[in-house]
Amino acid sequence: MAWRSALLIDPVASDDPREDFAETFRFFDPDEPALRVGDLSAQRGDGIFESLGVIDGHPQEVGPHLERLAHSAGLCDLPAPHLGQWRSAIARVAAHAGAGENVMKLLLSRGVEGQPIPTAWITLASAPDNTRSRRDGVDVVTLDRGHALDVPARAPWLQLGAKTLSYAVNMAAIREAHRRGADDAVFVSSDGFVLEAPTATVLLRLGDRFVTPEPSAGILHGTTQISVFSYLGRRGVETAYETVPTATLVDADAAWLLSSVRLAAPIAAVDGVAKAIDRALTDELNAYLLSPRD
Ligand code: PLP
Repeated sequence: MAWRSALLIDPVASDDPREDFAETFRFFDPDEPALRVGDLSAQRGDGIFESLGVIDGHPQEVGPHLERLAHSAGLCDLPAPHLGQWRSAIARVAAHAGAGENVMKLLLSRGVEGQPIPTAWITLASAPDNTRSRRDGVDVVTLDRGHALDVPARAPWLQLGAKTLSYAVNMAAIREAHRRGADDAVFVSSDGFVLEAPTATVLLRLGDRFVTPEPSAGILHGTTQISVFSYLGRRGVETAYETVPTATLVDADAAWLLSSVRLAAPIAAVDGVAKAIDRALTDELNAYLLSPRD
C-alpha cells in the first residue's frame, strides 16, 4: 500500500460553534508511530471507521459516510462526531490524493484507556487495483454469521450494524472463503437469510427489480448501495429492501458485491454454482460509481 497522507484530529464537541478547525489538525508521517500503546482501538478494537473512495482528488459520498460514522458512534456510545470538523479534515487530506483511485479511512477510537477523550485520525493511500474483480467478477461462498435475523433488535450490545474497528471476524471469513477456493464470502443468518459480505453489500437482480437485504438485519447500510439505488431509481427501475432467503442468491438473475473502493463486483459463482454476469450493466454501474458523487 502506498500511503499518501495521514492527519490526526483533536475531536471537538458536536455542537462546537467554530468554523475554522485548523488548530485541531496535525499531519503526521504514516510510516512513523502515532498512537499511544494504550489506545483502545489497538487494545480492544474499540472504535469505528469509514472507508471512502477518493477519485481524481474527489472524496466520494462524504455526506452519507459521515452520516454512517455518526450512526455507528451512536450505536457504540461514542461521542457524536462534529460533522463540520470531519468535512474540513476530509477536504484537507483529499488535497494530497492526486489522480487515480485512492482510499481514505476515517477512524474514531474510544481513546486511551482511562482517559475519556476519543482519538481520531484519517489516512489516505492508493487503492488496490480492482479491475479484475469489476470485470471478471468474484466467486463467493455463503458462510453462517452465527445469529438469527432478529438478534440485532434483541441484543443491541452486539453493535451489529455499526462499522466497528473489530473486523477480525470479517477478515477470518475471507480467509475461510479462500480456503474453500473462492474469492470472497457472503454472510447468511443462522435462520437462512442473506446478510452482507465481510466488506460489501449484496445486490440482486430479480427479473427487472433490484433487491438488497434490509439493513435492520444488523448489517451496514452501504453508501454504494444507496447511491446505486438512487441511480437506478432515476432511470425508473424498481428497487427494494427485502428479507432475502439464501436460495434467492443462487437463483437471482444477477448479483453484485457493492462497496466504496471495489465498487460493483459481479458475483460469478455462489458455492460453486456459476452465475451469469451482466457485463453491460456492471460496466454502466462502475462508470457511474467512478464519476464524482456527493
Ligand atoms: N458491509 C460491510 C461489512 C462493509 O465493510 C462494507 C464496506 O466496507 C459495506 C457493507 C459496504 O459499504 P459501503 O458501500 O459504504 O462501502
